[in-house]
Amino acid sequence: MSEPSTGAGGAGGAGEAGLVGDPYAWLPASIVSSVAQTPGARSLTFAVPGLRPARAGQHVDLRLTADDGYTAVRSYSLSDVRASAVPAVPAVPAVPAASDGVGGAEGVGGAGGAGPVPQIEVTVERLDDGEVSPYLVDAAEPGDPIEVRGPIGGWFVWPPTEFEPDSAVHAVLPEPPGATPLRDVPVQLIAGGSGLAPLMAMVRVRGRDAPPMRLLASVRDPGARWYVGELDEAVRASSARAVGVSAAEVSGVGVPAAGVSAVGVSAVGVSAAGVSAAEVSAVGVSAADGRTGGLTVDWVYSRVAPDGHGRPAGRLTRDELESLVLPAAEHPLVYVCGANSFVEAVAGWLIELGHAPTRVRTERFGGV
Ligand SMILES: Cc1cc2nc3c(=O)[nH]c(=O)nc-3n(C[C@H](O)[C@H](O)[C@H](O)COP(=O)(O)OP(=O)(O)OC[C@H]3O[C@@H](n4cnc5c(N)ncnc54)[C@H](O)[C@@H]3O)c2cc1C
Repeated sequence: MSEPSTGAGGAGGAGEAGLVGDPYAWLPASIVSSVAQTPGARSLTFAVPGLRPARAGQHVDLRLTADDGYTAVRSYSLSDVRASAVPAVPAVPAVPAASDGVGGAEGVGGAGGAGPVPQIEVTVERLDDGEVSPYLVDAAEPGDPIEVRGPIGGWFVWPPTEFEPDSAVHAVLPEPPGATPLRDVPVQLIAGGSGLAPLMAMVRVRGRDAPPMRLLASVRDPGARWYVGELDEAVRASSARAVGVSAAEVSGVGVPAAGVSAVGVSAVGVSAAGVSAAEVSAVGVSAADGRTGGLTVDWVYSRVAPDGHGRPAGRLTRDELESLVLPAAEHPLVYVCGANSFVEAVAGWLIELGHAPTRVRTERFGGV
């Protein structure tokens, strides 16, 4: 990860030049775009001058201030961190070049703070009786005074840091000598509802040489799914890589985007050519070097399942969890995120199923 950009937050940038890089500094932010994920959820992209590069899994605090000065602060996971790292802007020379007459570099990183501005995305689910989330989903507009603090968090991040000298947690949970480097072990992501947000950031930062990644997402009904098209495309692309053909060729053999996600890719074969996206993904998971970037996505539905879905709607059970996640024998790193009760239940089952507590990382959003 590159060093924090100081150029964008220079004098006149964030307005608090002395605090740039301080994770507890409030930074003025502006909404640059937003997109509805569902009628009840929206992704918001903020430009935040002076923000340090973020890692997938981290969250930020948002502070809203009303006209009368009342403030409200809420935490939101980052659903996309890819634009948070911007190229460092060259420092302004202490003594300007004598008189070459060419001022091309002047102003870059200068007092005006010109340069690329870090951007982050959060995805917010509206809680109808909530104070902040209805505003963010339904009313927030570019220019509204919102401040950002963060990024925050060092444990619930992927790729994981091998050794974090500052982390007391990691210090007492060492990996055994000779173990596969943490960033190379298979990854299991498990989301309950809006808990998909930080896990999507992890999916988005996967490189071509990433270890196999499997995502299990539990939602109320098909209309509550986020990032459907993007996840379908990511599964198709990773499948194509695993079998050595282009994404276009895979699309061409008839893996319908809607079908892949609607039926749960590992449950039902959907391709007209007789090879399901899940089956193709499985090729990637079992490849000899284990690093094909293979991605598998499974949806389960708690209240209403789509027609043809192999599993009736209902809450996730321990037995289902066992069949839908990477087995403990593969020693995956597991990331679980969602409301408190979902995380508690799933994390408990994972331990019962033999997953090492040191490999189960959790993020709780609150609620019941
Ligand atoms: C680290 C962290 C990351 C988070 N990331 C996200 C995210 O990416 N997307 C997102 O939508 N939310 C996220 N949340 C939850 C978010 O911070 C707010 O709690 C949520 O948006 C509700 O705020 P509110 O002001 O609308 O509701 P409030 O006015 O605070 O509460 C309204 C009611 O909803 C209940 N409630 C609060 N939080 C939840 C919840 N998560 N589930 C169910 N009921 C709840 C309260 O108990 C209360 O009864 C995160 C929370 C934490 C701690």
